[in-house]
Amino acid sequence: MKRNDLKPATIAAQAAGAIDPASGGVVPPIQPSTTYVRDRDYELVNSDNVYLRSHNEPVRLGEAILSELEGAEATQLFPSGMAAIAAVFRTVPNRGRVIVQSGIYWGTTKWIRDFCTRRDITLVEVEASDAALLRRACAEAPAQLVFVETPSNPWLKTVDIHAARESADLSDATLVVDSTAATPLLSKPLALGADIVMHSATKAINGHSDVLGGVLSTRNKTSPVWEAICIDRNEAGAVMGPFEAWLLVRGMRTLPLRVERMSRNAMKIAEHLAQHPHVEQVFYPGLPSHPGFELAQAQMQGGYGFLLSVLVRGGREAALATAGRLNLFHRATSLGGVESLVEHRHTIEPDTGIPENLLRLSIGIEDVDDLIADLNQALLG
Ligand code: PLP
Repeated sequence: MKRNDLKPATIAAQAAGAIDPASGGVVPPIQPSTTYVRDRDYELVNSDNVYLRSHNEPVRLGEAILSELEGAEATQLFPSGMAAIAAVFRTVPNRGRVIVQSGIYWGTTKWIRDFCTRRDITLVEVEASDAALLRRACAEAPAQLVFVETPSNPWLKTVDIHAARESADLSDATLVVDSTAATPLLSKPLALGADIVMHSATKAINGHSDVLGGVLSTRNKTSPVWEAICIDRNEAGAVMGPFEAWLLVRGMRTLPLRVERMSRNAMKIAEHLAQHPHVEQVFYPGLPSHPGFELAQAQMQGGYGFLLSVLVRGGREAALATAGRLNLFHRATSLGGVESLVEHRHTIEPDTGIPENLLRLSIGIEDVDDLIADLNQALLG
């Protein structure tokens, strides 16, 4: 059987075929050495390895698995999701122009705004879930990057990636899709026309809330932007260490299983909360009432992800009291882990238009009936 005939669950469970050739172990080894030896004739003992910043075997393995899952020509791992985003934006020349979706993960928006100010880059923020608005922004002038996040955090808006590709072409821009909330399983942005797909691997890819990581995968490894990203990572040194990469590979072995369970749980919880008298609104792309539902049906497969937001009836106090009464959901930022989390986003980003009664839920792999019972008792007070 050819490797590219294999399904994601097989690729992930077998860590893309990793066997330790030295010991025969079915688990890949960790080699923490920062440098690699040469023989007496000054030949490298292993010609693939000179120095850890450039040559890190657990990182290479993680990248190989992610490339197979994404259908990518190449992948680069970074020490955090933000480091991956920064690596993309550092390819934009001073006084360039970038088009970025508004209302996405606040940390991304905040860093991009600061970066663009420092580098005199024109930043156009646009509601990219409206394909016509994105198209108009792209048609106005050339740009180097179009950056979208779908589904978005915390609004769960969906962006039409195929339409975004056509728009990006109008401004001759590289299209980058942050697909963190969709994971490499539920959506294939590269097949839909993205040039680069980005993930915070800190979230579902690792899935155990114990590794920070970022991913960029490309459909064209000879593009100048990709080559610049690779050179910059190598020379500027935003690299993941071998222990983190090893943990990440271990986490990824169960990625398809976790994503399947988390998405199923999230769907049931979204349906339940949509009928709940103490909930004003639920944002989840798997609900037919969601404005992006049809698009999500078309460009996601196997579920709609683990992330949802709700507006609690009764305003800020009711939302905070609900969060405070939850017993199983941990009150903590982040998403995508095996344990369910709840976050009052307004506390984190008070001046960005997030409603004070919004709670963001990251649904884990627990028994869904336990999670629903916990939400019920917390909402009813
Ligand atoms: N993109 C999204 C959608 C996120 O939710 C996050 C973090 O929450 C990031 C990027 C940044 O990733 P990291 O925290 O790994 O730097």
